[in-house]
Amino acid sequence: MLLQSLEGRGYKAYEQLRGRWRNDGFVLHVDHVQGDPFAAPSRVRAVIEPDDAGLAPTAHASAPRALGTAAFLARAFAARARAASRSLGTGRSGEIRMEHPGQQVMAQTAVLVDAEGRVEARFTVGLPARGRRIAGRAAAELLGDDVPAVVRGTLLAGAHDPHEIEACAAANEDAEALRSQLADRGLVAFVADGARLPRRSGIDDRPLEGSEVVAFTAPGSLRVTLDAPNAGPVTGMGVGEGVTLIVGGGFHGKSTLLRALESGVYDHRPGDGRERVVTRPDAVKIRAEDGRAITGVDISTFIDGLPLGRDTRAFTTPNASGSTSQAAAIVEALEAGAGLLLVDEDTSATNFMIRDRRMQELVPGAGEPITPFVDRVRELHRRCGVSSVLVIGGSGDYLDVADRVIRMADYRPADVTDEARGVAAALPTGRAPGTVTAFQPPPPRRLDPASVDARRGRRETYVRVPDDRTLLFGTATIDLVAVEQLASRAQTRAIGQALALLGGDVLARSASLAEALDAVEALVSSEGLDALDGRRVGDLASFRRFELAAALNRLRSLRVRA
Ligand code: ADP
Ligand code: MG
Repeated sequence: MLLQSLEGRGYKAYEQLRGRWRNDGFVLHVDHVQGDPFAAPSRVRAVIEPDDAGLAPTAHASAPRALGTAAFLARAFAARARAASRSLGTGRSGEIRMEHPGQQVMAQTAVLVDAEGRVEARFTVGLPARGRRIAGRAAAELLGDDVPAVVRGTLLAGAHDPHEIEACAAANEDAEALRSQLADRGLVAFVADGARLPRRSGIDDRPLEGSEVVAFTAPGSLRVTLDAPNAGPVTGMGVGEGVTLIVGGGFHGKSTLLRALESGVYDHRPGDGRERVVTRPDAVKIRAEDGRAITGVDISTFIDGLPLGRDTRAFTTPNASGSTSQAAAIVEALEAGAGLLLVDEDTSATNFMIRDRRMQELVPGAGEPITPFVDRVRELHRRCGVSSVLVIGGSGDYLDVADRVIRMADYRPADVTDEARGVAAALPTGRAPGTVTAFQPPPPRRLDPASVDARRGRRETYVRVPDDRTLLFGTATIDLVAVEQLASRAQTRAIGQALALLGGDVLARSASLAEALDAVEALVSSEGLDALDGRRVGDLASFRRFELAAALNRLRSLRVRA
């Protein structure tokens, strides 16, 4: 009625839509009305009471179950909304859009399922216009027919197959349970038998399908059995603490296995192939990233005595080299509390990873500022309890420092630890023992809150995510291409909002960066993601302290406190 009467009026008249609109089976809340047809679409929520949603009690009986259910509903809604979107005029008129959660399952705000089974779906609609005039009849179709059809077709009782929801809830509960058993078993990661690790492409995270895909099978000597509450006993490869090498010829699946371990800090939807690949939650991918900025990081344990007497105990540069960037990545990860480092030779700086006998001879100790990782990786475990999993195809010097060696051949893992020991004994590297000084855990950094400024023009907080790997924060552009464990745009957006909190008063109240990360984590876990943005947006996802720190550390304006 209202909508029809708005036909032909100026776009601003849509403002009258703000408020609650009762529908059959749900209430539509119009929270924000866009100012013109080209502006960000209007924000709406559909709230469905438990009886109307009709979820089985088991769908939300525990937090991991509710997350699995919510992710299922969000995927279904996002897909249906996309199909139902049609151009109803100027700009984004007629678009219905929900953030798609992707392959990973984590807390997000697109669909929330609470402990009683109430469902809240948050999405955007492009209110129809012709030029700058309201297209009232089209709006009536959009809000009166299209949106209710999407809600009815995905969220109301009868729309969803209870078995499918149970599968999502159960898979998520199982993954959480498997991950929680790692520490007691002395493991850093677990890859279940039957897991399918390869992805469709570098830009498509869905599973590779087809008869050529080799399902994972654990080598007998590394096979362990964990217990999943729904699936029961699950066998697979347990990766123990300490130093683990993944070796093998090129194209035999080494990097694919490591990437699965990187992703194993998150849960995955059923059918992903990695539902039962779990990694300890504090695992951090480390790589070289020349050109990045570094602010006040003590990398002296890896790099000391740079030319021109540059101090590496509080190393700052707008343009890091491969080796300094990789050293900084490790120190920053340790500062944030990492317990497992994941390193791929493919994306490492060679001079950071190794220095062989011949180079030791040609460039004697005093002329070489780098203590290579091969001389620190064992100490890192012994002194700091930090394990490493390294993909190594080319540098056999690592055989001397490995606790176990897994060889990938034709995508099948074998335990070749004994063989590797034999090779190391038969063919000594002849390297002079490198390490002279003991490894020093990094000192806490105190960062200057004024250097983390979310303001831009008249906006107090400016956060935009133009693509998956770029964060616009205040007037800065943060390049996140090398932050490989970032899972989604929604996660990146949440990190942008969290940066605003850090720059607000969290850093100012904290004695160190680690303490500030604790404070953000505590806030999100007690108040939920809406604590990051009070407008009840649907495009936030939970994130780890490591990715938040990684974004902060790449902010070029960052300064340490005097
Ligand atoms: P490496 O790091 O050993 O050179 P990759 O992990 O990059 O090898 O894998 C090489 C190729 O093989 C990739 O295209 C990847 O998708 C594919 N691949 C990896 N694991 C499997 C598997 N289990 N089954 C089928 N193909 C796979
Ligand atoms: Mg590789």
